[in-house]
Amino acid sequence: MQHIDKIYIDGAFVTPHGEEWFDLFNPAKETVIGRVRLADAEDARRAVAAAKRALPAFSRTSKKERIALLERMHAAVQAREDELFEAIVEEYGAPVSRARWMAKYAADVLAEVTKVLRTYEFTRHAGTAEVVMQPLGVAGLITPWNSNGGFICGKLAAAIAAGCTAVIKPSEMSAIQTRIITAVLHEAGLPAGVFNIVTGRGDTVGAEISAHPDVAKISFTGSTPVGKTILRTGAETLKRVTLELGGKSPMVILDDADFAEAVPLALQAGFMNSGQACIAGTRILVPQSRAAEFEERVRFEVARMQAGDPRDPATQIGPMVSRKQWERVQCYIRIGIDEGARLIAGGEGRPEGLEHGWFVRPTVFSGVSNDMTIAREEIFGPVLSIIAYRDTEEAIAIANDTSYGLQAYVLSADAARARAVATRIDAGRVLINTLAHEPAAPFGGFKQSGIGREYGTFGLEAFMEPKSLLGVN
Ligand code: NAD
Repeated sequence: MQHIDKIYIDGAFVTPHGEEWFDLFNPAKETVIGRVRLADAEDARRAVAAAKRALPAFSRTSKKERIALLERMHAAVQAREDELFEAIVEEYGAPVSRARWMAKYAADVLAEVTKVLRTYEFTRHAGTAEVVMQPLGVAGLITPWNSNGGFICGKLAAAIAAGCTAVIKPSEMSAIQTRIITAVLHEAGLPAGVFNIVTGRGDTVGAEISAHPDVAKISFTGSTPVGKTILRTGAETLKRVTLELGGKSPMVILDDADFAEAVPLALQAGFMNSGQACIAGTRILVPQSRAAEFEERVRFEVARMQAGDPRDPATQIGPMVSRKQWERVQCYIRIGIDEGARLIAGGEGRPEGLEHGWFVRPTVFSGVSNDMTIAREEIFGPVLSIIAYRDTEEAIAIANDTSYGLQAYVLSADAARARAVATRIDAGRVLINTLAHEPAAPFGGFKQSGIGREYGTFGLEAFMEPKSLLGVN
């Protein structure tokens, strides 16, 4: 039983002013595994004040000094990968293969930002002017529960590389993972106030950070409705925002695709992170002429998938993070049935043999039309929709007929043809015949999937503003 009663402000572990206690669960067992004392708005204000005090000195540190800091952070996080891995399985319920990737990713993302910083030029020229990239100031970093360590480390790394100081508000549901990350980053020995971590509720701590006049920038990953609230709140002080929001990504399978490869890949993309992934390919677009063949293979593949104990290496789909999330997913499965979509795998309730734990049956609907609720709204669970199309033009139209635009996938035997389709899809990333991640490439959404980009040079520059110096030459 974990008892977490400290937050991190100004280089020290302190007792929060907030007095509310929040239960932490093991989602595979539905048991309480810890309690966290939550920060409140007063704690958020203290954290912002600490970050503001640290800013003048930190924003003037050299590139070399920041690289050295990032390298120490990387080494510290890497050294505790196993502890983080344990917490991810226990508190989030990620299957072990996924949890291992996530634990490693928290360190990897620090190394990636360091790589970008090494070659980044903070000064360039435009005509007679010298243009200096200047850190924005105090950054508020607000993160969700579905990849806690990775999001904290990724956003903080970019903020630090740019010369910003930070106040981090992680999800209250990930407090055990956050405790490890906080301890590790403290060990890395960053100057006091450069980063502060205040775990609390979104509508108190998150709202305070979004409104605070001394916060210049918000980098948020989470749901689209909360992203809109943050944008509205931040507008009062014209905060710069990066919003990484929801998705309803199309998986476009062209008529020449080899289904022996396409079906496992589509299911992997749809069910990744137990379906709790913003980039999950949840709308599978298949040619009408081959829909029956596709369905048959899907039935076969899903029947072989294991949903259950995250500690079993054979498990591909773990539990939903919370009861609320489980109920939400069940509700969408019911809506799909009621709207007339055809269940070809899974359905309501838990997978066979599991009486407790927030497990969902890997579920695939076919005969889905793109105007059904299950094709329009982000479910954030292992529930996929197969949508048939007549020709490539219609496939592109359906792919783009969504309020989201985070990621898309195109599968084809002909790479040039797939590329041509990819260029016409409105999404921040389009993956062609692959699920590989490219950390150097920008990541972010079109439309209501967000504003701005993370990763690589684009992600670094999201924490800076260009300043032109004229008359210097
Ligand atoms: P959420 O929007 O409910 O919460 C995200 C964070 O915002 C949490 O820390 C929460 O406490 C905080 N928050 C809540 N209300 C707030 C407010 N009024 N002001 C400020 N902060 C507030 O999202 P979630 O349920 O934690 O995560 C799932 C969502 O995240 C999904 O919609 C998913 O698509 C999205 N997501 C997006 C990406 C991406 O990169 N685009 C990645 C992962 C998850």
